[in-house]
Amino acid sequence: MQNQKTNAASTLKIGLVGLGKIAVDQHIPAIHGNPKLTLVAGCSPHDRPPNVLAYSTLNEMLKMHPEIEVVAICTPPQIRRALAMEAIAAGKHVFLEKPPAATIDEAETIKNMALANGVSLLASWHSRFAPAVETTREWIAQRTLTSLRIVWKENVRQWHPGQKWIFTAGGMGVFDPGINALSILTQIIKDTVLVQKADLHVPLNCAAPISAELDMMTERGLPIRAEFDFLQKDLQTWSIFAESTAGETMALHMGGTILEIDGKLVLQEKESEYAGLYAHFYQLVRTGKSDADFSPLRIVADAFMIGKTIAAPEFIE
Ligand code: NAP
Repeated sequence: MQNQKTNAASTLKIGLVGLGKIAVDQHIPAIHGNPKLTLVAGCSPHDRPPNVLAYSTLNEMLKMHPEIEVVAICTPPQIRRALAMEAIAAGKHVFLEKPPAATIDEAETIKNMALANGVSLLASWHSRFAPAVETTREWIAQRTLTSLRIVWKENVRQWHPGQKWIFTAGGMGVFDPGINALSILTQIIKDTVLVQKADLHVPLNCAAPISAELDMMTERGLPIRAEFDFLQKDLQTWSIFAESTAGETMALHMGGTILEIDGKLVLQEKESEYAGLYAHFYQLVRTGKSDADFSPLRIVADAFMIGKTIAAPEFIE
């Protein structure tokens, strides 16, 4: 069924909310690179990237550009629900950057409101669009695994300079990148993932963890270990490892761009995740559908619920 709130003959007209790092690095190039999309304007209280018609608030942007059909929200998660609800109330389709909201209830509220208002919602997980993820999912689907391990370690000072919101309540700390690993995990494993134990290392001057270790298990008993670290100085590591009952090994490196089976390179590609993500979103809007899976957010929420908080040294950027 064609969604009534779009005109299939023209390009999809987008307004960007939050013109920070991810909007500039990925969203703006991905929108410009897709002939089916038009970037109409953006809004951000302070940031003003070149070549984007920018306003201070969402309200102002929508008033000046009633032709906007889609609002893509690229702000920190703590303010995402209010912005999403404002956009949906104005009849716009919504693209949420990850994580979809600061809490499960907020995410569910956005989903319910989109449904009630007949607009499309994408709770995006960009890492699921990394080039080797689908091949990994197929490899796992044909086997029984004996173990799975996530090692997601990066330097917060290098990748998130000045982003103070990450260590405030609702910013999720090391789970801001860590949830990308969990989004791949919940894509390549069919079964529900249950958090058994979580150690959350929270700096004395922060509200969110700077490192964490999780022990999880699928409903059928596959043990999963995850190690997240925001203070990795040398080799930046975004890897997932698995072993099968037949003794085969799988290693997915660099956030899902390199796949090795039994130590041999099977796939290595640098394809943009955001090109695939926007193509998916375009299709959702044009077919009147939504994609809002909150399973990675649920794992983080469960880790916070049953996790043990361990004091870590103050974090000084
Ligand atoms: P960022 O650089 O701090 O940018 C956030 C932007 O949101 C800033 O431009 C900020 O505006 C703006 N903002 C704050 N309040 C706003 C409001 N009420 N209305 C409109 N804009 C508002 O953060 P980021 O790295 O882009 O991350 C944003 C989101 O993208 C996070 O959820 C993150 O997890 C996700 N993400 C980030 C990356 C990455 O590599 N950085 C990758 C994938 C996904 P001002 O600065 O103008 O005040």
